[in-house]
Amino acid sequence: MQLVLISDTHGQHQSVDVPAGDVLIHSGDLTLDGEREVVLDFVSWLAEQPHKHKIFIAGNHDRWVQDNSDELMAVSRQLGVHYLQESSVKIDGVHFWGSPYTPEYMNWAFMLPCENSAVRHWQQMPDDIDVLITHGPPAGILDNLVIADRELDDNSGENEIGVQSEYRLISRGVGCSALASRVLQVAPQCHVFGHIHEAYGSQTFGRTRFVNASCMNREYSLANPAHVISVNGLELPELSSNTFVLNKKQDNLATERNDCKPSVLAAELEGDLSQPALSEIAS
Ligand SMILES: [Zn+2]
Repeated sequence: MQLVLISDTHGQHQSVDVPAGDVLIHSGDLTLDGEREVVLDFVSWLAEQPHKHKIFIAGNHDRWVQDNSDELMAVSRQLGVHYLQESSVKIDGVHFWGSPYTPEYMNWAFMLPCENSAVRHWQQMPDDIDVLITHGPPAGILDNLVIADRELDDNSGENEIGVQSEYRLISRGVGCSALASRVLQVAPQCHVFGHIHEAYGSQTFGRTRFVNASCMNREYSLANPAHVISVNGLELPELSSNTFVLNKKQDNLATERNDCKPSVLAAELEGDLSQPALSEIAS
């Protein structure tokens, strides 16, 4: 089965060059400002694509979807495309599961307010997924955000990658640690996401092909081509014990919010919380 993977079209789906394949997947940020009209135009466009099956999720920009997922699901069903939100679809024996949630960043849609909530959230992911579709990346994999920082004197130990005008450019991994832990457990054939435009690319760890499918680059231009990959029947690489380099990610997502105080469940999952995240490895 050939999967065509795209993401982060931010309203410019009509201009995307979409290759042929069996299943077309969009992993969120259909819109720039979350408007209903753009979401519905996207769904119509998706339905018109020649691929036999079409699957999509929402992203942090898609605010209208957050409060209207029932309407979106009904429209999608009517047009014969699959909208996934903490839900599955099985096509020719391949199990797809999708979720729009990302770690909290300002006041966007589908936010996980802290590490505890993220751990709880990703526990609902089934164990038998073949293709995982999330909007955000897991920690340590295709998740490096490039930040322009004015504080040139601030030496916070971050990974400086250059200086542009008066700005210092910093590369920082912003993926979700709890998602990385859960993906290692589930080990799908493919995990497709977007969200961090400048981290577009593909890497294989263990048995999983990770794809950041952002069509737009950091400047919000449609610069990145779609990925086409095979699942089910694909020769999978052997899982070797030295495939992973483990690295404790220093995330500080905990807040004082009530819903983020450690719960019994979170305490039970402490092993997962302290589990190291994947770090950069040459593929
Ligand atoms: Zn985006």
